[in-house]
Amino acid sequence: MGLKIWLNDGLVEESEAKISVFDHGLLYGDGVFEGIRVYDGKVFELQSHLERLYRSARAIRLSLPVAMETLADQVRQTVGANEINDGYIRLLVTRGTGTLGLNPLVCKQAQVIIIADEIELYPRELYEKGLRVISANTMRNHPLTVSPQIKSLNYLNNILAKLEALDRGMLEAIMYNHMGYVAEATGDNVFLVQNGRLLTPPVEAGSLDGITRQVVIRLARDNGYEVVEQNLTRFNLYDAEEIFLTGTAAEVIGIVEIDGRQVGSGKPGPVTMELLEKFEAYVRS
Ligand code: PMP
Repeated sequence: MGLKIWLNDGLVEESEAKISVFDHGLLYGDGVFEGIRVYDGKVFELQSHLERLYRSARAIRLSLPVAMETLADQVRQTVGANEINDGYIRLLVTRGTGTLGLNPLVCKQAQVIIIADEIELYPRELYEKGLRVISANTMRNHPLTVSPQIKSLNYLNNILAKLEALDRGMLEAIMYNHMGYVAEATGDNVFLVQNGRLLTPPVEAGSLDGITRQVVIRLARDNGYEVVEQNLTRFNLYDAEEIFLTGTAAEVIGIVEIDGRQVGSGKPGPVTMELLEKFEAYVRS
């Protein structure tokens, strides 16, 4: 038995969950999405994810066919139908079926797809050993192209940077913006620790307004850390006491090497490990 997938107005069997080859989500990456976690059967930060989804949709002039509360209910129904206790939800809204031309206005009906499944996590030992990363040559999308604040179905910019990392035997790459400031990793936000303070780029530097980022900022402040959003350079990363990434799938993960330079002691630092612990406790509280 496959999964039960939400497709527009109801749940269907995975084998029946099909969309048109003329869907502009496929033809042009024209659509928006969210990746959301389920912890102990509860959808984590659903309201924040839905708000981001609707903001992304608004930015690309895509009108969602359902109200936010209805969509929240559909997400929960999909999780329930698949009996997901700890897992991952992929919520997509595509522009819908159109013609081969670019014109989105001919697509009359946006398609809503909700997939709730088990999650593939980084192996536990990576959280103890930390990740090695490189600086990508591929620049993060300029904010006047597709704003990195839009979580769109077109991830080619990130994929090109990810390929650079994979080519060098690493899992992640740091992306910089058109001014040379740190933007984000290919699927995660970036933080560093310097003199006991947490620094992270403002979203205007070219990053997604990560939900995990917001939660970690809150947890850090609640635990007495100063958190400053400011532009960061590659030198700031080389000079950092600790670096870590935040994201829905990765949660909080330490970086121990960047561009061949060891970060801190070469193991995830104490602030990183403390915040990972606090985050893990919070998601199940
Ligand atoms: N940046 C990018 C490019 C992402 O795709 C993601 C989500 N995987 C993030 C940052 C982290 O955001 P969130 O914490 O909301 O998952």
